[in-house]
Amino acid sequence: MNQKQKIKRSVKSDLLPWFASNKRSMPWRSNRTPYRVWISELMLQQTRVDQATPYFHRFMKRFPSLKSLAEASQEDVLKMWEGLGYYSRARNLHKAAQIIAKDWNGRFPQTGDDIQSLPGIGSYTSAAIGSLAFDLDLAVLDGNVIRVLTRLFAYSTDSRSTTAKRELQQLADELLVKGQAGDFNEAMMELGATVCMPRSPQCKVCPLSSVCLGYKSDRPTDFPVKAPKKKVPHIIVGAAVITNSKNQILVAQRRAEDMLGGLWEFPGGKQEQGENIKECIARELKEELGVNAEIGDFIVTVKHAYSHFTMELHTYYAKIKSGRPRPIECQDYQWLKVADLRSVPYSKADLMIIKELEKS
Ligand code: SF4
Repeated sequence: MNQKQKIKRSVKSDLLPWFASNKRSMPWRSNRTPYRVWISELMLQQTRVDQATPYFHRFMKRFPSLKSLAEASQEDVLKMWEGLGYYSRARNLHKAAQIIAKDWNGRFPQTGDDIQSLPGIGSYTSAAIGSLAFDLDLAVLDGNVIRVLTRLFAYSTDSRSTTAKRELQQLADELLVKGQAGDFNEAMMELGATVCMPRSPQCKVCPLSSVCLGYKSDRPTDFPVKAPKKKVPHIIVGAAVITNSKNQILVAQRRAEDMLGGLWEFPGGKQEQGENIKECIARELKEELGVNAEIGDFIVTVKHAYSHFTMELHTYYAKIKSGRPRPIECQDYQWLKVADLRSVPYSKADLMIIKELEKS
């Protein structure tokens, strides 16, 4: 029996029973409907279970059905997603809900290809929904599964490469226990999350240790092999909290096609070469809203890391000296009292500014 066959046998005889008695209780594991599986899978991308759980409860309370989600405004959906990051997921799930309501009579499509035709659903999410909600024999490949597989096989190709993605997907497909795809996928992910952890794999209690080449090598943490990441750029951004005589603050809505599209923000933008931060804010206000503003006192600096850059956001009070605001490089704008700022959705960085404003 070759290594793959040994692992396949152990997955069926050791991993699945281990999962049956060790699986954690999670809200989306009960009352499993395609809708609940879909929302939970999207929330769990890039987000830990403990962070996603309160969001899931809140989301289900506000949008208990696919119909209620399809009928909601995009702003309401973004508000429920606020703080989870990767907001294109929220915009896409809203679009997809409207497509299902209109083109599929409100019933979730039931084949891998049809599921994947929806906006924001790639091979991972369609395999997760297909296997968990419709018992389709589709294997998922997420970060946890990649870690388990590369260790089981002591797989040494750069795991971020397309070759590795293809080969690992093939291995997952071959190990999948037909007719039990949902359990297989969840068991692999659960093993990665709770036993085969990135820095401290618990090999001694692992149900697959007898067949694991990573464990046998004594260096399981050498896998997955990852080529060093390129350094991400760091940008400096200036933002203004513009106040008026009625004690209101101006917030602008980002254009739909921009990063964080549809979310609200304190207007501003990236510092250009040769200008100081106050000059940057004044220029941005002119470009974005068509106003000349005087930049006042410093409020706060917020640091935030996105997947492809890091940012330092310097925030100052500002007053309009001339011009009426117009939404030139934004979708819309409005004046709100501090107490009402949270009525619309923001990115994490802007929420940190609001927190600071609420203190004063
Ligand atoms: S034996 Fe260790 S390295 Fe191998 S799958 Fe289990 S926890 Fe991971």
